[in-house]
Amino acid sequence: MLDYDGTLTPIKTRPEEAKLCEETRRLLKKLKKKTALAIVSGRSLEEIKELVKIKNIVYAGNHGLEIETGKGKFVYPPALEVVPIIKGISERLRLSPIKGTQVEDKKFTVSFHYRRVSPQEIKDAKSYFNRAVSLWVREKKFEVRKGKRVLEIRPSGWDKGDALKWIWTQLGKYLFPIYVGDDRTDEDAFETLADKGLSVLVARRKKRSFAEYHVRGVKDVERFLEKLFIVLNQVDGGRKSTF
Ligand SMILES: [Mg+2]
Repeated sequence: MLDYDGTLTPIKTRPEEAKLCEETRRLLKKLKKKTALAIVSGRSLEEIKELVKIKNIVYAGNHGLEIETGKGKFVYPPALEVVPIIKGISERLRLSPIKGTQVEDKKFTVSFHYRRVSPQEIKDAKSYFNRAVSLWVREKKFEVRKGKRVLEIRPSGWDKGDALKWIWTQLGKYLFPIYVGDDRTDEDAFETLADKGLSVLVARRKKRSFAEYHVRGVKDVERFLEKLFIVLNQVDGGRKSTF
């Protein structure tokens, strides 16, 4: 299970610029033939599928609120109820007077990016977001998640850790899970995995994390996946283990 932004592609100033390079796509396609593969992203399901463009793998969008396995689609039920509220919040966020903010309406969640906001105005951008969502957060139906230069409001009760468990159950509990990710939302998955699988944090510097292992960047993730491919090839002699 792999996160996308900051794990398979370097983080860009504008999220739409983070494209998967052909080499990585080829590597993922090779891996898919050997084992079950899932992309678990904060982006919408539709968008992450479009960015990765590999058939017959698992996709989890919105940090796992929506998952597609090839056999079917799952949406965390409370997420369906919040669609109109999310729409209202994103309209309000779009009125932000702070230069450089970017709103990403993902149907079940909204992201408020401030990567391009000048350092002096970051505080204002954050408080604008907090004011816009405060009413909903107080209701406990929603929660705010912080990422790399991004704030997100989402229905509470389901995160990447829950998505990991759901995917693992679907694919087969006999599988040994591996999760690679770079952001705070990935910590939920690392924590869920604990001693049950292998967790890898992508970060330039080592930091406090629930992940057991650490690599320094996207290039290291590629190297890790290449090694994994070699190991899988040796272990099962080229037979695909599932899916
Ligand atoms: Mg990420």
